[in-house]
Amino acid sequence: MAFPTQAQIIVIGGGIIGCSTAYHLAAFGAQDVLLLERKKLTSGSTFHAAGLVGQLRTSANITRLLTRSIEIYRGLEAETGQATGWKMNGGLRLACNGERMIEIKRQATTARSFGLEMHLLSPKEARDLWPLMDISDVVGAAYLPTDGQANPSDITLSLAKGARQKGVRIIEDVAVTDLALKDGRAHGVETEEGFIACETIVICAGQWSKEIGRKAGIVIPLQSVEHQYLITEPCGAPRNLPTLRDPDRLIYYKEEVGGLVMGGYEPNPIPFALDGIPDGFHFSLLESRFDHFEKIMEQALIRTPVLATAGVKTLINGPESFTPDGNFILGEAPEARNVFVGCGFNAFGIASGGGAGWALAQWILAGEPPMDLWPVDIRRFSSSPHGEDAFVRERTLEAYAKHYTMAWPHEEYESARPRQTSRLYTTLAAKGACFGSKLGWERPNWFARPGSLPKDIYSYGRQNWFDAVGEEHRAARERVVLFDQSSFAKFEVRGRGAEVALDYLCAGDVTRAPGRIAYTQMLNARGGIECDLTVSRFAPDLYFIVTGTGFRTHDLAWMKRNLPARAEVEITDVTER
Ligand SMILES: Cc1cc2nc3c(=O)[nH]c(=O)nc-3n(C[C@H](O)[C@H](O)[C@H](O)COP(=O)(O)OP(=O)(O)OC[C@H]3O[C@@H](n4cnc5c(N)ncnc54)[C@H](O)[C@@H]3O)c2cc1C
Repeated sequence: MAFPTQAQIIVIGGGIIGCSTAYHLAAFGAQDVLLLERKKLTSGSTFHAAGLVGQLRTSANITRLLTRSIEIYRGLEAETGQATGWKMNGGLRLACNGERMIEIKRQATTARSFGLEMHLLSPKEARDLWPLMDISDVVGAAYLPTDGQANPSDITLSLAKGARQKGVRIIEDVAVTDLALKDGRAHGVETEEGFIACETIVICAGQWSKEIGRKAGIVIPLQSVEHQYLITEPCGAPRNLPTLRDPDRLIYYKEEVGGLVMGGYEPNPIPFALDGIPDGFHFSLLESRFDHFEKIMEQALIRTPVLATAGVKTLINGPESFTPDGNFILGEAPEARNVFVGCGFNAFGIASGGGAGWALAQWILAGEPPMDLWPVDIRRFSSSPHGEDAFVRERTLEAYAKHYTMAWPHEEYESARPRQTSRLYTTLAAKGACFGSKLGWERPNWFARPGSLPKDIYSYGRQNWFDAVGEEHRAARERVVLFDQSSFAKFEVRGRGAEVALDYLCAGDVTRAPGRIAYTQMLNARGGIECDLTVSRFAPDLYFIVTGTGFRTHDLAWMKRNLPARAEVEITDVTER
């Protein structure tokens, strides 16, 4: 077969995400999809994954996406004839204190709201399902009968086979060496074998994605981190043993050939490849770090005493890309049209693969995601600070360490702060401000009363800021308050066509005389709200837009992409000004 010179859609990377995306693109009717893999399918992070497929996440829609994965995995072997190792043996999640129990009760309520089966169990009921564990400190457990496990390589090869059956071309041993853009849009890719023209590029290159994106000025904030799990000799684990997560001890388990696979999230993670991923790194593992794993092992010995006598077959150490907020990255890059991204799977890419590929394929073909996917949307990041390696590394290591810790409401990250402050920062700090961070900016969340500490105390009940915020709220309603909006994103819209462009983009009337301000939204084709902002008219040809700190990238991209054709207008981000 001659090497192709063009394709409609090129998917870069043959791990589970690239294969699932290609499979779903073809399933949804895309005719000319080409997947390029620099070495062999599965040779990145996919081949060494442990294979747990759990569904429970803190965001309801991400849980729904993972539920979608399972719907796909259940029928895949029958559809393609390629084994997947899929086993729906259920999943248990333990709670070892009252707050964790509240967390899983809340998750059960959310799960019920979209029909995901989840039961709350007593410690004894949990042990009946998982006889190898000690339950002396267990308060309760959640049980999801539809969780399961799979063989990561087999499930990926099955998706690849299904993709081929639907017409996708897959070429191995060809690396993409550069991305070509024309007028800010995808134009093609350079490879080791030559140029291939295309309309759409999809970057699913795992931990290599950051460097590939950089070639076209696309910010993909990733940090590779070492992750380890242990495999034991057979130790009496029943073949139908559910997977088990014990977040209070930072560990997880699954059954494998009568033994156990046990891994965990160390509080002091080790970053990998600070100077770039070494050449020739494929089907590669890192050296086992028994000393680093000791803390995890200590916790596991308490939960599963059988580990003290079970022979250890091996300690797998593999790198995987993690992100600064622990969620993966999907969607169209704000910097380039028709360049899509699906990467950064934070050690749950096997669980996410089916659903993420399903969502990304629809996003590519329809131009919008099939459901609200803001927690994983690439536009939640910004070139500042997420284009800076040092920031991304520090924040990502904190997120890794928090993978299993309690996800408190309103929890703030502590690393890489303060990074960007307002001119009023010291004044506000002196007034007792307790700061949070948003897209790199320090922002006062609340003000401590004299004599009390400006420090959040997290809980599932009323948190310690409640009264202070109440007082501030009353002041705003009844007296006077002054807001520091330095962190808010700000744009100038300038030019002869400014009024026409904004009149087209905004739901409200922004054609008023200079000196007027309008609070308005920008809507998508279904009338859903995309941007929520204020538009001030400074002059006939000059508008000033203020939007939320976290929506900086999203709102700018939305405006630029939806301008009327040939609009005589220039939009500039002037936030720092
Ligand atoms: C020790 C460990 C245990 C894990 N356990 C689990 C688990 O139990 N459950 C779970 O859900 N997840 C688990 N994971 C996470 C899971 O392995 C990953 O999230 C998943 O494999 C990521 O898939 P991917 O397709 O994004 O990346 P990858 O599998 O890394 O695929 C990316 C592909 O892109 C290719 N590529 C890179 N650059 C180029 C280029 N320039 N041109 C062409 N191709 C290119 C690479 O060769 C690679 O094959 C674990 C991870 C680790 C490290």
